[in-house]
Amino acid sequence: MKLICIGRNYEEHAKELGNAVPSEPLFFLKPDSAVLAHRHPFYIPQWTQDVHYEVELLVRINRNGKAVAPEFAHRYFDEISLGIDFTARDVQAQAKAKGHPWEKAKAFDGSAVISRKWMDKQAFEGGWEKVPFALRKNGDIVQSATAEDMLFHVHDLISHVSHYMTLKMGDVLFTGTPSGVGPVAPGDCLEGELADQTMFKVNVHG
Ligand code: ZN
Repeated sequence: MKLICIGRNYEEHAKELGNAVPSEPLFFLKPDSAVLAHRHPFYIPQWTQDVHYEVELLVRINRNGKAVAPEFAHRYFDEISLGIDFTARDVQAQAKAKGHPWEKAKAFDGSAVISRKWMDKQAFEGGWEKVPFALRKNGDIVQSATAEDMLFHVHDLISHVSHYMTLKMGDVLFTGTPSGVGPVAPGDCLEGELADQTMFKVNVHG
């Protein structure tokens, strides 16, 4: 199982990190070893001083696909969920400055939170793209959006990625984070909400 993560898929988030709005989707991978075990706390690694939360809408790929056309991409997922793409922002900034890959900053152990709950995308009246999601840090909402705010629709993401690498059943697509990212500190509690349901609760330890 691979985790495919999209970067800069919301205009306001691209701007808050000083990045240009991309003309095509930008993606990177996390290995399955990055998945934070359910009910486990997130431990801030020793080698970073600046880990950020990034809440993201998740899509689970339901069958293998290669070079999928956008108009058929809807057939490649049935369920949506919510997760966090933890990012060592200081290490990522160093990598970006040197033109190096991002894996140290993005693919480390525990860096991928995946909710246990998955929701049928057909279950939402008016379409899953309109379903609000949010992240609470210590009770306060710090990020919120809907899929309608994305620069590239999930169907376009599936199509784009599948032209470079085969999508396999069980792969999870992290669709990018909206604005409002910020650092975590020991003692923080992060809660993800999708359609008013709590999808995960993660405690941060030092
Ligand atoms: Zn992200």
